[in-house]
Amino acid sequence: MKNLLIKNGTVVTASDTQNADVYIEGEKVVAIGNDLGSRFSKKADQIIDANGCYLFPGGIDAHTHMQLPFMGTFASDTFETGTLAGLHGGTTTIIDFAFQSHGDTLNSALNAWHEMAKDKTCSDYAFHVAVTDFTETAQKEIQGLVEKQGVSSFKTFMAYKGALMLDDRQIIQLMKEVKKFGGIVTTHAENGDLVDTLIAENRAKGNLGPEFHPLSRPPIVESEATGRIIDIAHQGGHPLYIVHLTCEDALNRVRAATLRNQKVYVETCVQYLLLDDSAYLEENFGGSKYVMSPPLRKKSDQEALWKGIDQNLIEVVATDHCPFCMDQKKMGIKDFSKIPNGAPGIEHRMELMFSEGVLKKRINLNKFVDLTSTAASKIFGLYPRKGSIAVGGDADIVIFDPKVKHTISAATHHMNCDYSAYEGWQVTGKCRTTILRGQVVIDQGKALIGKGYGKYIPRTKPGVANV
Ligand SMILES: [Zn+2]
Repeated sequence: MKNLLIKNGTVVTASDTQNADVYIEGEKVVAIGNDLGSRFSKKADQIIDANGCYLFPGGIDAHTHMQLPFMGTFASDTFETGTLAGLHGGTTTIIDFAFQSHGDTLNSALNAWHEMAKDKTCSDYAFHVAVTDFTETAQKEIQGLVEKQGVSSFKTFMAYKGALMLDDRQIIQLMKEVKKFGGIVTTHAENGDLVDTLIAENRAKGNLGPEFHPLSRPPIVESEATGRIIDIAHQGGHPLYIVHLTCEDALNRVRAATLRNQKVYVETCVQYLLLDDSAYLEENFGGSKYVMSPPLRKKSDQEALWKGIDQNLIEVVATDHCPFCMDQKKMGIKDFSKIPNGAPGIEHRMELMFSEGVLKKRINLNKFVDLTSTAASKIFGLYPRKGSIAVGGDADIVIFDPKVKHTISAATHHMNCDYSAYEGWQVTGKCRTTILRGQVVIDQGKALIGKGYGKYIPRTKPGVANV
């Protein structure tokens, strides 16, 4: 067991900012306070000077897809490469999705994902289970998953008919079962039938380039499904978490729910806050880099999302990290509907949120921590082990230098993807050192651990109302 003393930093949590030292024994934080050197410097194996730096809780990315089999290919980051890239950017825990195959059980999905992640993952990890076929067997598995396997959240898709989509009846039954055992349902809210219709219409007209992807999934596709799932949850008194909300119209459905005193938990992703749909016009098939669902929206939607964060309508900023290399994107060179949906993002979520959020005064430091770590840890049952810098909690800490300027590029990033959605972006603030369970895992851009360091973190019940 190694002991670590971090001196002279500014400790930032979702609620407080204080100049303090942090003392770590083994994997846990043991003390936070002033002048801990006088008490602990003799016991410390290593002393780090964090003068001029913030200490943030390790980031939690609640929405990632490592090596996901999807649209005829696999997401290009493995559990090893994707989580190592995450550590470089200060994300110490991911919650990935185990996808049920049609006709198969939820447990076999979870086992398959455990098999992919085990001995490979660099950061800590947990799983949501994506339910794509809500059979009687699946229904019987919910209790065991929540109570024995550490899976307390279940993803549903209202789109991708014939592949991932559940109909409303199945979602209602799933919500009832999940609620019985204290879990939460999360939803990809797009009207799948409307999407399929609009894709077919565009293809019939010969509209085949990536610029027609957003036109086949306009905001009303998302806002309709968002409103519908919110109503369904309200009717049954079920907790609900909406993944990757992107636009003002959908946000207004969440806002409307508050008028009848309904609480809905909402995630957006960093790309929806920072990129807009003009990206689809990039030449030479460049628009395909941004083909994801839901698609990027207008600048006015970005502004609405930032305001939604300020109004506490949006709790979590994740990435939906699901990278595909350009060769894979080219599967849809003749038809946008065949472009694998997804983009890289895990590595720069925290630095972008700091540079574009905190430094541009859209959010304060404590909100930054809440959005990137604490809220997800509470909603998804990782708290208090993860999501804060607190005595007794895991020593997952990012030593962040707020002054370092750098440029994002595929040439220097660690994600296994040959493009960056933020190529050439200048950001201020960098993760200098990442500590995971008391171990320095990244220092000044150098990885000090290898694959298999990451641990599976079974989750407890969500810390939300109505469970
Ligand atoms: Zn996703």
